[in-house]
Amino acid sequence: VDADPPLQKFLEAASVGLKTVEGTEAVVHWMRMADLRIVDNRALSQASKRAREVDIPLIVLFVISPQDYVAHDRGPRRIDFVLRNLKSIKRSLKELNIPLYVTTHTPRRNLPTGVIDLLKQWNAKELYANIEYEVDELRRDIRILELAKQEGIRCTFIHDKLVVEPGTLFTQQGKPFAVFSPFHRRWIEALNRNLHWIAEASVPTPNDYEIHSHSSYADLFNQEVPDEVEGFECEDREKMKVIWPEGHGAAKEMLDRFLHTKSRGSQLGPANPLEEGAESSAKASRALTYKDKRDQADRDTTSRLSPYLSAGVISCREVVRATMELLKIKRVESSRDTSIGTWVQELAWRDFYTHIMCAWPRVSMGRPYQEKFAGVKWEVNEEHFNAWKEGRTGVPIVDAGMRQMNTMGWMHNRARMITAMYLTKDLMLDWRLGERYFSKMLIDSDLASNNGGWQWSSGTGTDPQPYFRIFNPYNQSEKADPTGNYIREFVPELGGLRGPDVHKPSPKTAQKLGYPLLLIEHGKARDRALRRYKNPGME
Ligand code: FAD
Repeated sequence: VDADPPLQKFLEAASVGLKTVEGTEAVVHWMRMADLRIVDNRALSQASKRAREVDIPLIVLFVISPQDYVAHDRGPRRIDFVLRNLKSIKRSLKELNIPLYVTTHTPRRNLPTGVIDLLKQWNAKELYANIEYEVDELRRDIRILELAKQEGIRCTFIHDKLVVEPGTLFTQQGKPFAVFSPFHRRWIEALNRNLHWIAEASVPTPNDYEIHSHSSYADLFNQEVPDEVEGFECEDREKMKVIWPEGHGAAKEMLDRFLHTKSRGSQLGPANPLEEGAESSAKASRALTYKDKRDQADRDTTSRLSPYLSAGVISCREVVRATMELLKIKRVESSRDTSIGTWVQELAWRDFYTHIMCAWPRVSMGRPYQEKFAGVKWEVNEEHFNAWKEGRTGVPIVDAGMRQMNTMGWMHNRARMITAMYLTKDLMLDWRLGERYFSKMLIDSDLASNNGGWQWSSGTGTDPQPYFRIFNPYNQSEKADPTGNYIREFVPELGGLRGPDVHKPSPKTAQKLGYPLLLIEHGKARDRALRRYKNPGME
């Protein structure tokens, strides 16, 4: 465990914050990048209860912080998704007479003072927020706690992002888990003993209508959520709106589609997955065939909930509860031999990577989890990196994955693993370059999951079989895309190829079709990777 993890420091600071306050005229819920919802939002729910208790208005605040987006390599699609969701939340909150006030703060070091100034302006001495586990955010919130204390403002920070909060699961030696399988066993066991962890938080109760005529708060209703953030203009916004509609309703429909309808044989298909008219099927829904079909990139078999979970448009607790309702079970499915058990395990992966980031924060600050690989020698080759980014490597499955992300803002999980491993082990380019590019392009970008996925794929992370796990992209291609439809869909140059050729076109065929030639031969690349990982620092 890293010395002085910021979460520890933050929890210590939060525990000595003010316990009681007097004379508050409003309660504020500070909504953040990963809890963009009204339903089942713990901090919002508690803030509302408190406002009712003392009979004062509840105000919701969101702070746009462009420099944080730069620091986290967040891209325009993710920021646009946030703004679209905020607009929808603003409309729903207005029906409850609750204002949502959206403001922008730069530079980021001034943000804590800016927030405290707003609270003072509203005479609000109570602040509620869900915890953000990223290092910069924890440090920012430590500063908020210090300033709030000086101003007599009480802050309540609440765990909300995960099914099982960080700092609750330990090995028999009392250490945080660094290997997924035992973590998962413990996660299920602890959850089934504490099912209240996934209980639903109540929706906020409406403010009194009088707030609309209150001199300090009435104007907050009139303020608009901006359409874009300077420097993060989303060029393909209209397309993203169709593929990834905003709002809790859309997230819920996406969940229902997964639980109750059959998968279809295409990734793109109709532009909006919610309008696909898929056949509903109680017995053969995506959820109930997940175990066998999830790795097939040529079918639309997974939930596609990641953008909604990353931005907190739907809570992970609601998702777990819905799977229990589907099977009419009272305990969380633990078996990895069932489809629902396998799917719930994916939610445990999401928790796992945030737990890792909290215990070893350096992983999200550019350091490998396994320090022994810090000195691995990476190639410097801009041409190769650009070819990978644009899907022009000459390896069809890699190019299909990259082009899927560039087109849809999302990539199938197996394709993420294949493309990430290809960048790091075949092209021998630094995993941090890939991590950054994914963060910019993905609409579901999440620091902990992206970092965990990249470190796993590059062999520097928590995978117990680290560097010698090197995917053969052609074998992977046949498994992930048995029909070849995934490649044909995203690499139109190869649209006319059938059979094995689509996975590995000969140089002659590639040339004829205008498809790029290979950058490097897999066998040679594999030997180089093994050599360099075995002897970090050597050629
Ligand atoms: P489903 O298969 O339906 O899974 C349900 C949910 O479980 C997902 O929505 C997601 O929240 C979670 N989940 C599934 N697999 C993983 C996993 N391996 N790690 C963490 N959570 C998981 N996921 C992100 O949400 N944001 C990222 O930035 C991200 N970057 C990744 C980078 C790499 C290199 C790799 C290998 C994986 C990355 N993932 C990331 C994990 C995973 O690929 C996506 O969560 C998944 O593809 C989303 O599709 P889905 O919602 O249909 O998933």
